[in-house]
Amino acid sequence: MNPPRQKPDLKNLHPATQLVHGGTTRSQFGETSEALFLTQGFAYPDMETAEARMKGAEPGFVYSRYSNPTVAMFEERMALLEGAEAARATASGMAAVTTALMAQLKAGDHVVAAKAMFGACLYVVEDLLPRFGVASTLVDGTDLSQWRAAMRPQTKLLFLETPTNPCLEVYDLAAISKIAHEHGARLVVDNVFATPILQKPLQHGADCVVYSATKHIDGHGRCLGGIILGSRDLIENEIHNFYKQTGPCLSPFNAWVFLKSLETLALRIQQQTLTAARIADFLSGHRHILKVRYPGRPDHPQAELVKRQMMGGGTLVAFEVAGGKPAAYAVGNQLSLITIANNLGDAKSLITHPATTTHQRLTPEAKAALGVGEGLLRLSAGLEDAADLIADLDAALAVLDREELAAE
Ligand SMILES: *Cc1c(COP(=O)(O)O)cnc(C)c1O
Repeated sequence: MNPPRQKPDLKNLHPATQLVHGGTTRSQFGETSEALFLTQGFAYPDMETAEARMKGAEPGFVYSRYSNPTVAMFEERMALLEGAEAARATASGMAAVTTALMAQLKAGDHVVAAKAMFGACLYVVEDLLPRFGVASTLVDGTDLSQWRAAMRPQTKLLFLETPTNPCLEVYDLAAISKIAHEHGARLVVDNVFATPILQKPLQHGADCVVYSATKHIDGHGRCLGGIILGSRDLIENEIHNFYKQTGPCLSPFNAWVFLKSLETLALRIQQQTLTAARIADFLSGHRHILKVRYPGRPDHPQAELVKRQMMGGGTLVAFEVAGGKPAAYAVGNQLSLITIANNLGDAKSLITHPATTTHQRLTPEAKAALGVGEGLLRLSAGLEDAADLIADLDAALAVLDREELAAE
């Protein structure tokens, strides 16, 4: 028999390779595809082992709320891709955000966050954290002087997402993490819109990255999940105990689905980014479109920053149709291929009207401050052929040629 084949050092290989091979742990059966360990617990060979494992004196699995072999493979593959030392996978993106924030904060601490934020994240920062004595200040994320001015001696965390939902603003990760570190605080980045393929916040100074794996990581609209990534010290000494004791863990079944999805993540993001760019170009020349926001276009307000910080414009396009809500609704209702749904990162192209769905809860003033107009639509480019999507949009926009809508 030949000596056992050596595993390559995946750290030095490219993302596409890491996404296929990273974190693969084979069982005694030598299966080629990752095994699904759909189990709550683990049997010990003897009482002494049970004691040692519970104490952490011996490596090995104890209970799937703490860790599980399939979930561990997902965590390891994601950590490799992100360039993080460690990770903990969660039941949803919101479980990742809530765990990451709650585990690092205590009463008396202060958080600075960007205003333009996923609705549920805004709830956590504005409504939930104050109930536990954590104050917060919201700033315009593009304005570095506002970040600086908001810092207090008690500021422990800065929190942001970039590009933002739904207007696709881009924030300067290197500059904002520098402000955090100068004040002894940390930067947590929700990297959902960029994906780990197009932006690596840890390389720009962030301390912790969170994802909703529900989006591009699953990529086919099936499972909910999330993940928290950072240094070994942060994950093992600050996040892990909170995670293990409060139970935001990911189902092994969902972790298994995500492992298979990760194998195609780089390919999908590449293709969906090309499609989003073509759609953005088509829309920006269109007679019924007032404004197109796409991070990959040279007319994006932070185009220079996008070049420095991102490896592509991403899979989302925001655009404003002339004629406000009636026009936006007429276009949405006229689409036949593009699906109306508030999700994103799916193989199917999805469109939503943020003002009445994802951002419904905000006051008219708050919507205006974020640029969420009545004519704004957010499109998540899927895996269909770009030409078919453009034809669908073109046909739907033609409804606005009717005078009663154009006159609005
Ligand atoms: C979807 C999303 C979340 C929440 O993720 P869930 O998996 O739905 O809990 C958080 N942040 C951003 C930017 C998102 O798009």
